[in-house]
Amino acid sequence: MGNMEGEKVSPQEEGQETERIKCLIIGSGPAGYTAAIYAARANLSPVLYEGLQPGGQLTTTTDVENYPGYPEGIKGPEMMDDFKKQAERFGTDIRYGWATAVDFNQSPHKVIVDDNKVIYADAVIIATGATAKYLGLESEKKFSGYGVSACATCDGFFYKGKDVAVVGGGDTAAEEALYLAGICSKVYLIVRKNYLRASKVMQKRVFDKPNIEVLFEHVTKEIVGDKVVDGVILTDKDGNEKRLDISGFFVAIGHKPNSDIFRDYLETDEVGYIKIKSDTSKTNIPGVFACGDVMDSQYRQAVTAAGTGCRAAIDAERYLGEKNL
Ligand code: NDP
Repeated sequence: MGNMEGEKVSPQEEGQETERIKCLIIGSGPAGYTAAIYAARANLSPVLYEGLQPGGQLTTTTDVENYPGYPEGIKGPEMMDDFKKQAERFGTDIRYGWATAVDFNQSPHKVIVDDNKVIYADAVIIATGATAKYLGLESEKKFSGYGVSACATCDGFFYKGKDVAVVGGGDTAAEEALYLAGICSKVYLIVRKNYLRASKVMQKRVFDKPNIEVLFEHVTKEIVGDKVVDGVILTDKDGNEKRLDISGFFVAIGHKPNSDIFRDYLETDEVGYIKIKSDTSKTNIPGVFACGDVMDSQYRQAVTAAGTGCRAAIDAERYLGEKNL
């Protein structure tokens, strides 16, 4: 599709590919794909850009056991493949690429994809999710991909039969530690408080696993090694240092919402989660909707993300109907 008829093209758009669409969905986790299924079935001809991590965070998970409808559980990547196929079946135009800038001061809303393609969309559904956080140590950056990872499912295999450490005390850390315990010979779980924040069922699994050792009230001072990680220096609550000999260091301390490119236009909380009007998916800009982990600091589950994706598509459809778009 070409540029809108009669529309002025700004100088920087000259030579850029532009496209006019009805409904743009940014992100391909459970929220984005669910929004796509509903939007496609409502005849909104949605275009979905998959983003930097097609399939979203679930592609880095092993077994999903709590998504209703899968009594035996399912692997995260397989589940996201199913979501994608279902969205495609109803005609969603799914594309590889990610939104790099937006201008929500105009309607239709302007979104730049891959720094060069301009999309004008009457309705925009943001489903960009969240990204794993890191501790912020220099050594963590230095060894990224050389012993430091934020995804046990992706990288655990490389540490088969070796000793590793996981940092964090939430469900993610517990899940990563349990996954690694099945592959590695020993897993240290480094927890800064004197308790785990993970759910009781996950805590029990961790404590029952003979090759997981939980080190409460320890913080990571430095990750050490020559070219690859061979140890980590910890500090306990009395300031004493200790070294663990490990080959892999897994960071599992929470997530950051992927909202940076929207923050000049959309209201967010102090962490960056997009604010929505209560009981809807509406942001402060008419025609821009948010769903999934980018607006949910509370639940962050696949099923809740899918639920909000459904809401966003229904809200978008009503908005377009009311505006006769
Ligand atoms: P959480 O925010 O729940 O936990 C983060 C953990 O990391 C906390 O223990 C926190 O410590 C610790 N932490 C944060 N910053 C640092 C730091 N700089 N140094 C050391 N430790 C740090 O994040 P999760 O990713 O674990 O979970 C997010 C949500 O997703 C939760 O609601 C969780 O229940 C859910 N979830 C559910 C799963 C499931 O049901 N299967 C699987 C994974 C996640 P402190 O406690 O001191 O703040």
